[in-house]
Amino acid sequence: MAGLAFCPALWNITAMAASIHQFLIGNDNYGILIHDEASGATATIDAGEAAPILVALKQTGWTLTDIWVTHHHGDHVAGIPELKAATGAKVTAPLADKDRVPLVDHGVKEGDSVTLGSTRAAIIETPGHTANHIAYYCADDGLLFAGDTLFSLGCGRLFEGTPAQMWSSLQKLRALPAATKLYCGHEYTQSNARFALTVDPENAALKQRAREIDALRAKGAFTLPSTIGAENAENPFLRADDPLIAARLGMAGASPVDVFTELRARKNRA
Ligand SMILES: [Zn+2]
Repeated sequence: MAGLAFCPALWNITAMAASIHQFLIGNDNYGILIHDEASGATATIDAGEAAPILVALKQTGWTLTDIWVTHHHGDHVAGIPELKAATGAKVTAPLADKDRVPLVDHGVKEGDSVTLGSTRAAIIETPGHTANHIAYYCADDGLLFAGDTLFSLGCGRLFEGTPAQMWSSLQKLRALPAATKLYCGHEYTQSNARFALTVDPENAALKQRAREIDALRAKGAFTLPSTIGAENAENPFLRADDPLIAARLGMAGASPVDVFTELRARKNRA
């Protein structure tokens, strides 16, 4: 290791091996390509539609080797058959969803890791939005691909899981290092910001962020990636155990799960 300290170029390669290309699929689904510079391997995070992903591959000049699936919803997996036929990419998906995701080659669960050349992602099980949802966390590169579990200033709807499961999943994600870049399945940040301000109106960081989001969206720019540090300060769904949020909801002393349940119910009605 002593040699590395005197070789900053090599250190940079070791510390940051992956490049990201983010683009929209349809109105608000994010397409994300992650490219390992050393090996040339490239993964798409989910595959809602094949055509825009194939266009993105052409634009970047990257060759698809892997499809990393977060959950079985159609807007995340419908493009898999066409994409796999076109590229031969290997499909990694939650083991428990291997019958609900097309053409799975590799089923994964909590504690497993997947590699893309020299880039490694740990699998974090995050049930709530769906029963078997997973996130991909690249510790060395400081990247989190959270699918539809954690959004910037919001979280996914509970289609298959309980509020207690989702709150537990969000606690896992909020414990990652503050500098971790958060990539999500959807561009929902502006509507999430509006809701967040209704339950946390005095939060200066949130108010500032909402202004930045409005400016970004006004010029059609993306609001993602965010960071875990920013989300911990600004996202009310990560703060269901913060007495300030409970008090704002008129639920002082209530359990975090009850506060989370109320936050999610209010957002569903918003
Ligand atoms: Zn979904």
